[in-house]
Amino acid sequence: MNIQMKPQAAAAQNSLKGKVSLVTGSTSGIGLGIARALAAAGSDIVLNGFGNAEDIAKVQTELQTEFGIDVGYSSADMSKADAIAAMIMTTLSEYGRLDIVVNNAGIQHVAPIDQFPIEKWNAILAINLSSAFHTTRAALPAMRANKYGRIINIASAHGLVASPFKAAYVAAKHGVVGLTKTIALETAEEGITCNAICPGYVYTPLVEAQIEGQAKAHGIPREQVIRDVLLAQQPNKRFATVEELGALTVFLASEAAASITGIALPVDGGWTAH
Ligand code: NAD
Repeated sequence: MNIQMKPQAAAAQNSLKGKVSLVTGSTSGIGLGIARALAAAGSDIVLNGFGNAEDIAKVQTELQTEFGIDVGYSSADMSKADAIAAMIMTTLSEYGRLDIVVNNAGIQHVAPIDQFPIEKWNAILAINLSSAFHTTRAALPAMRANKYGRIINIASAHGLVASPFKAAYVAAKHGVVGLTKTIALETAEEGITCNAICPGYVYTPLVEAQIEGQAKAHGIPREQVIRDVLLAQQPNKRFATVEELGALTVFLASEAAASITGIALPVDGGWTAH
C-alpha cells in the first residue's frame, strides 16, 4: 500500500511543476492559502497584495525554501487597470509564461443601501469584480499561445445568493460568476478553463473584522456573532479553511479538471442548498 502511494504523492507534489501562477490578494487569508497550495504542487508563484514589506519578503523566502520554487511579488493595486496590465506584462517578461491566474483580491463593506458610501461601492466593484476582467484580458493571449490556462475566480456564496447590507459585495460577486461563464465560453476550445469558487465563511482577517464589527454593533459576544450571525446560514456550522480552498484550486488547475469550465462551485457547508 505504502509503496504504491509514494509515487502518487510525489506526482501530486509536482503536478504543477513548470507552471507559473499569479494569485491576486495573496499576502493574507485565502489568497495566501491558495498560493501555498499551488507552490506545494510545484508551481512558481507571483504574490500580490498589500502588507508590510518584511512580512511579504518572509513569505517569499518560506515558500521558496519549503517547495524549491520561484516566488515573485507584485505590489499592483487591483483597483487600477493600468497597474494590473503592468503586473501581467512584468510577469510575462520575467517568467516567459503565465498559466494560472487566481482572481482573489477582495474587500468588504457592510451598510444599508441608502447609507452605502459611494466610494466603498466604487472600490468594491473595482477590486472584487473589474480586476478579474483586467487580469484576464491581459493574460489570455499568453494562455492562448500555450493552449493551456486556468482562470480561477474566488467569488463567494454571495455570488449565488444575497444578504442584506452587502449591496456592493453581492453585486460584484454575482458579476464575477457571470464573468466566469463568459470567459469559459470564449476560451472553451483552447485548453483554457475558467471557474468560480464560491466559499461560504472562511476564517480570515476579512471575517475577523466582520466579527468585531457585528459584536460592537449588536453588543453581543464574538462567539454568539460567529454562531448566530455569520454561521446562521451555514448549515455545517464551521468555517471553511484556506487549506480546503487551496486543494480545490490545485484540482481545478490540474489536467483532471480539463472539462470543468464555467461553473460556480459552492464551498459553503450547505448554505446555498437552502
Ligand atoms: P483578506 O482580507 O484576508 O485578504 C484580502 C487580500 O486582498 C489581501 O492580501 C489584501 O492585501 C488584498 N487586497 C485588498 N485590496 C487590494 C488591492 N486594491 N490591490 C491588491 N490587493 C488587495 O480576505 P480573504 O477573506 O482572504 O478574502 C479573499 C477573497 O475571498 C475575497 O475576494 C473575498 O471576497 C473572498 N471570500 C472570502 C470569504 C471569507 O469568509 N473570508 C468568503 C467568501 C469569499
